Amino acid sequence: MITTLNKLHAVNDNYAASRCCSKCSSNKPITEFYRSKRDGYDSSCKMCRKAQQKARNQTLDGKIKRAVYNSAKRAKHKGLEHSITYYDVKQMWNEQDSICALSGEPMLFDGIPYADNGVSIDRKDSRYGYTKGNVHLTTNKVNKMKGNKSIEEFMEKVANDNTPQQLNLF
Ligand SMILES: [Zn+2]
Repeated sequence: MITTLNKLHAVNDNYAASRCCSKCSSNKPITEFYRSKRDGYDSSCKMCRKAQQKARNQTLDGKIKRAVYNSAKRAKHKGLEHSITYYDVKQMWNEQDSICALSGEPMLFDGIPYADNGVSIDRKDSRYGYTKGNVHLTTNKVNKMKGNKSIEEFMEKVANDNTPQQLNLF
């Protein structure tokens, strides 16, 4: 009997459990908090966590991290080596001054997937993987046009196509 009562109390306690969100300061039921390994539940509520994650994804750092995450996924899918990190891509972005390595056009980390002027991590030699030295940043448009061609083959094709205005290359 006592055990059953205790169990009931435990269930009720759990049901009634709530905590004050450290971000928005509202008192919410514990189900509105994500589980966390540290002390059972997160200190900020799900709503605040989601907003925080969204804001983080919209920063340049967040976008670079996502680009690296996506290139790692592509590499895995194609069975290619992937050893570039967020720091490598950030360094390239700064060194290239946000300019496409092949077309000289400005690139944008605008968050629209596959937008023509969006940033893409292009492998210089498509036989090899995403390693430091074998990648540079190009626009999605250039990367798509380049396909599996080497940089030399690509430049030759653009020069021979008589339609360089497509690319604004020359
Ligand atoms: Zn909150």
